Amino acid sequence: MDFINHQLFIKDINVHIDPILPKKTAIITHSHADHARFGHDHVIATRQTIDIMKIRYGDKCAKKFTPLRYGQKYSIKNYDFTLHPAGHILGSAQVLIEKNNHRLVITGDYKVGKDETCKNFKLVKCDTLITEATFGLPIFQHPDPKDEIQKLIRSVKINKNNCHIVGAYALGKAQRVMNLLRQQKYNETISLKDRWSRRFPNPIICMASGWMTVKQRAKQQGIELPLVISDHSDWNELLDTIKKSKAKNILITHGQEDALVYYCKKQNLVSKPLSIQGRSDEEIE
Ligand SMILES: [Zn+2]
Repeated sequence: MDFINHQLFIKDINVHIDPILPKKTAIITHSHADHARFGHDHVIATRQTIDIMKIRYGDKCAKKFTPLRYGQKYSIKNYDFTLHPAGHILGSAQVLIEKNNHRLVITGDYKVGKDETCKNFKLVKCDTLITEATFGLPIFQHPDPKDEIQKLIRSVKINKNNCHIVGAYALGKAQRVMNLLRQQKYNETISLKDRWSRRFPNPIICMASGWMTVKQRAKQQGIELPLVISDHSDWNELLDTIKKSKAKNILITHGQEDALVYYCKKQNLVSKPLSIQGRSDEEIE
């Protein structure tokens, strides 16, 4: 497993996973801007991730694209790569790297909970797990998103003369909030706006984010109706995935690393933080 470094770079074959700067070969887990960048020579990703990158950055955002289906093997020398659903947003993938019978999984951003806007997370057993840790603290216990969306629907019913403005990240979260509303039989018109707008009559400001667990944060941002709807795993889901993966070696990337490292060590698992620079846990949620 020492074939990959703390920047998710495999020097032996000059392959990077989610590099921040333009590189020769980049495997991209998903199309959020802190993972998918412009200017690589060769991008390997799911078809949906490639399509979204082209929509956002233009058709020439990389010189060459290799789309992979989930489960389809792609080999470079004696390294075998496969992508598996991460359940984070449309097209999101975990990367399984197999080399000399060692299985290493990079989860990328992932969530275990069901989401109709993307393929659901698939647990992949491995020897080494590189996991994200955006919500890697025990205080983060995401509620059922259906209950959260019901709060919004109730407020809309009660406050008929107010316009509800729901802040949601444009890629992934916005589609999920709309899907959740429709699942709960909310059939009124939903308007999409580019950014916060307070020029509506009597707006009630709502926000759909895992960070809404932190009440102080919601208050500071002037959020009147916080909705805890996250596209990341919560604390228990992170622990559960670590356990079920059967990995003996756990590396923890962007997010709250300390508590997870402590938990893994108590379970006699080898664990350390990777501290990748340039990932924003704030915006991309
Ligand atoms: Zn993401």
